[in-house]
Amino acid sequence: MTSGGQRSLHQAAVAQFQRAADLIDLEPRYREILSYPKNEIIVNFPVTLDDGSMKVFTGYRIQHNNILGPYKGGLRFHPKVDLDEVRALAAWMTFKTALGGIPFGGAKGGLTINPGDYSIDEMRRIVRRFTHALGSNIGPDHDIPAPDMGTSAETMDWVMDTYANISPPGFRQSVKGVVTGKSIACGGSVGREEATGRGVLYSLRHWCGEHDARLDDLSISVQGFGNVGGHFADLAAQAGCRIKAVADHTGTIVNTDGIDIPKLRRHVDETGGVAGFDMADKVDTEDLFRIETDVFVPAALENQLTLERAKVLSARVVVEAANGPTTREADEHLFANGVDVVPDILANSGGVIVSYFEWLQNKSARAWSFDDVDSRLRELMWVAHDRVVHALRRYDCTRRDAAYIVALDRIIDVYDRRGIFP
Ligand code: GLU
Repeated sequence: MTSGGQRSLHQAAVAQFQRAADLIDLEPRYREILSYPKNEIIVNFPVTLDDGSMKVFTGYRIQHNNILGPYKGGLRFHPKVDLDEVRALAAWMTFKTALGGIPFGGAKGGLTINPGDYSIDEMRRIVRRFTHALGSNIGPDHDIPAPDMGTSAETMDWVMDTYANISPPGFRQSVKGVVTGKSIACGGSVGREEATGRGVLYSLRHWCGEHDARLDDLSISVQGFGNVGGHFADLAAQAGCRIKAVADHTGTIVNTDGIDIPKLRRHVDETGGVAGFDMADKVDTEDLFRIETDVFVPAALENQLTLERAKVLSARVVVEAANGPTTREADEHLFANGVDVVPDILANSGGVIVSYFEWLQNKSARAWSFDDVDSRLRELMWVAHDRVVHALRRYDCTRRDAAYIVALDRIIDVYDRRGIFP
């Protein structure tokens, strides 16, 4: 517990898998193993800033588990990043990759910075120095970072280039897969950038199939208009959904007839946020949760959907595009009130699934077509959703519990076969 008696984010993440562990009577030794990250790497490194001064930065890489394959997960650059958050995010990656049926483990890394405070040259130096400090703690068959909040394809290109340059000459071409989410020119995959948003929409489509609902009948509110929320809103609007409300760090806007997302996109590109968009009304932050919609999609930071906010939510389903957006109390309230929650480790797995496709393309020096990427993404997400629904019926539990049960099944099967060294 933290000093205020509140659970830390990592404790909350552990409690989520322990609930599922209870349902399947998981052996204590596996509970113990999965309650801790395998490795916690903290690096302090100096960077010269544009004005000639020097600043020491602290970077994290938490490697939670690698029983199913190389550690995998994003790098987050945000002022709120801390060790506890990165630990939680790393654990969620282990369950996300297992549930997605891809041969990766779980990791996460980050820097406690606001990238907006630094020039592009400073960011380039920070990223290169961070990569250098991580050194052989990452690698295409060991630990594979990717974009997350505050990082992008450009960041990944810099990580890849730095890693290649510190590798022996004969390996420099074969290490492209050290990161995923690169630009297409540098070995990235078509469809990777919007993959998380696309996967969130596939999740909603699957839910519609289960509930005899139609996408083009649904109204949606979205919290976050970054890479995930923005692409999701765009694709959902194209599929005929009515996006009634969008919120980001600049404000919350509502148009009950539906927000014109392509126009909002142009506005956000020009001004840096949704505030001031003249084809919607500006409302208070808390109104986002009160507005009447069928679907609520949190696509921002953790712990946004609190009990108070869950109590006023009218949505029939919450699709977690963000990692850890729902507090435990809110989760329990929603379940008790028959609101479905499609959990993060399932709903937002499209990003890491297409990261896997990028890694496969790098290994085989091939480029897949968009249709190949998209159809395989859909297939893997569909299989994961079907398995979760199957577990949901069998255990009569929450959808989150069911998702953890499917993920744990995969992980534990491999532990049982491999045994614990020595
Ligand atoms: N950062 C993304 C996530 O939270 C993607 C990770 C990846 O592609 O490795 O799932």
